[in-house]
Amino acid sequence: MNFVLDTHSHTVASGHAYSTAKEMIDQAAVLGLELLCITDHAPMMPGSTHPFYFSNLNTIPRKVSGVEVLKGAEANILNYAGEIDLEPELLKRLDIVIASFHPPCYEAGTKEENTQAMINTMKNPYVHIIGHPDDSRYPIDYDMLVKAAKDNGVLLEVNNSSLKPGHFRQGASENIRTMITYCKKYEVPIVVGSDAHFYTQVGEADLAKVILQEMNMPEELIANTSVTRFKELLNRKFQK
Ligand SMILES: [Zn+2]
Ligand SMILES: [Zn+2]
Repeated sequence: MNFVLDTHSHTVASGHAYSTAKEMIDQAAVLGLELLCITDHAPMMPGSTHPFYFSNLNTIPRKVSGVEVLKGAEANILNYAGEIDLEPELLKRLDIVIASFHPPCYEAGTKEENTQAMINTMKNPYVHIIGHPDDSRYPIDYDMLVKAAKDNGVLLEVNNSSLKPGHFRQGASENIRTMITYCKKYEVPIVVGSDAHFYTQVGEADLAKVILQEMNMPEELIANTSVTRFKELLNRKFQK
């Protein structure tokens, strides 16, 4: 299983990450990755950046150090209606948008409410990926989540950082396994993101790969193995 891209990374702009965009991209080049997504936290995350940061991302060239760069954001899901903290006018200018639950920005509801929040978020035409839907602090109905991902053409993330020992997200290993069971059943693709907050973490996917291999996840349902395939999956809902 050879991964050629990483869909989730943060720079100093996120406020709690510690490398520059150049350092992140250079590390992707060192690793031989073909594509890196830079997805800094959207403004509601304490310490993160102003919307102007996202509106000026086209300053970064499409290719740097031989690596294709997709410029985006990790938006915060704010409520059960699935509202997120970047406006459509800005979202439509981004190459890639992840939307996730984060403790300071979203108050956990019941399993039904959390599931509905994620499904409503998927209906946003500019959201490509649901980030780390793997945290027991926000219980989710995975059967419904995976079906909705299929219906809305959204990728579900297997977040490598969530799987690290002692990570603050809870129950990730078990929750990811449950999600993958339904992804296999309904033939819904996933994407692995490192969620790197320092350049040494770019491209990390080892813990996710162990689970994907253990569960015999078909390679055609893993979006990291081909840039062309990844872009096809992104474009399912999003005709720019
Ligand atoms: Zn996140
Ligand atoms: Zn992140």
